[in-house]
Amino acid sequence: MKYYDKLIFDLSKAGRQGYSLPANKWTASVSEIPAGLKRASAPALPQVSELDVVRHYTNLSQMNFGVDSGFYPLGSCTMKYNPKINEEIAAMPAFAGLHPLQPESTVQGALMVYDKLAKSLSAITGMAEFTLNPFAGAHGELTGLMIIRQYHMSRGDEKRTRIIVPDSAHGTNPASAAVCGLEIVQVKSNAAGLVDVEDLKPLLDDTIAGIMMTNPNTLGLFEKDIKEIAALVHECGGLLYYDGANMNPLVGMVRPGDMGFDVLHLNLHKTFSTPHGGGGPGAGPVGVAGHLVPYLPVPKVVKGDDGLLHLVGADGQSCGRISGFMGNFGVLLRAYTYILMLGKQNVRNVGPLAVLGANYIKESLKDCYKLPIPTVCKHEFVFDGLLDQSTGVTTLDIAKRLLDYGFHAPTIYFPLLFHQSIMIEPTETESKETLDGFIEIMKHIAAEAISDPESLKTAPHTTPVRRLDETTAARQPVLRYKDML
Ligand SMILES: *Cc1c(COP(=O)(O)O)cnc(C)c1O
Repeated sequence: MKYYDKLIFDLSKAGRQGYSLPANKWTASVSEIPAGLKRASAPALPQVSELDVVRHYTNLSQMNFGVDSGFYPLGSCTMKYNPKINEEIAAMPAFAGLHPLQPESTVQGALMVYDKLAKSLSAITGMAEFTLNPFAGAHGELTGLMIIRQYHMSRGDEKRTRIIVPDSAHGTNPASAAVCGLEIVQVKSNAAGLVDVEDLKPLLDDTIAGIMMTNPNTLGLFEKDIKEIAALVHECGGLLYYDGANMNPLVGMVRPGDMGFDVLHLNLHKTFSTPHGGGGPGAGPVGVAGHLVPYLPVPKVVKGDDGLLHLVGADGQSCGRISGFMGNFGVLLRAYTYILMLGKQNVRNVGPLAVLGANYIKESLKDCYKLPIPTVCKHEFVFDGLLDQSTGVTTLDIAKRLLDYGFHAPTIYFPLLFHQSIMIEPTETESKETLDGFIEIMKHIAAEAISDPESLKTAPHTTPVRRLDETTAARQPVLRYKDML
């Protein structure tokens, strides 16, 4: 153990301090905290110097893994590099210092960013209008489904309370539908990993509110029958919801609006950079086709006759308010900066490069790992564990062993279509050399699974903590020093 792996409490020395404050010059009546709110005794904080505190937090930060520290091929999550200029712009005092209750006339710049980002996203996706208010992909799904419900209700079509969700969908799709009060109807995938059109047809009737689809889907495969599916669903009076979490391979190339989708969300924290992980922060803007514009949530940013941008509240048809204010503005700023820095031309390279990287890894490793659907993929693909599983090495063991070699593990055991899923998404921001390094280690691990399976089953060996019970670690994290003892 390195010296500074010690917990900061162990470094505590009575009387040592890391600050010096000027004497209190205010009178007691101004500064005195009411007796009922005052501590009876000092908090049990470690007594350490400023340098101890700096080393403590710096060392803690280095126990973590991020895109800035290494390759992060987490399928479905699009962990691309977040350019540092995004951070610089988001930290500008003129943005970071805003208060959501400031008068409109003093936040015209922020409202303009909101308006321009909404218009950029409309252009990229082929939708008529956007709300940027939802805080995440799942929140966008709920918003989009509320819009769909509001649309049917406003037409008196009240029996449309069922929504079709493919068996390959991300778990948030059925969860959002349930929260929205919709009944979930599952449609199967065919042997090629795509929505089975023949299975879909008999599900379509006048109780169907719509279908939620991800394209490319969670296997990284383009739903090539989308035009036919769109026609079938529209014919029965339903609407098409696009889960835009997999928009990365399509940016600048193909537009969901042109595929026939009526409403969609984007995950700005995936497709449009901005750092994320561990549940946040995010933004899940929702775009709609022209016929759904009246149902968008409020407040909306609207240009007035006075030439200023205004926040407009409820107007009767809207699905209502879905966030306190105007969404996760820091994330919106980062995404807008990312789009502007790329520009119209370079944005077209995002998808093709993401697709090329994924196919390169897939083809390089398919002799060691089982590839259940051996077609060209989009930005990600799924292996079903090792080709040779005779030594009992599982996907979990492979993922843990990757940590020893300094790579973040891919997404594992998702999608649920296979027992040993390993879902790899390299993103376009990685160099060929990094992909080659990853391929080499993955091949090495496949060889180790035969020569030394024990080293995999007991991995990781070099991380600050060893193999955890992940469910308990996530649900009951130990966050207090006392609880660690
Ligand atoms: C990430 C993801 C979501 C959920 O998005 P959050 O921003 O995490 O709420 C939904 N669908 C798919 C396919 C995803 O990958």
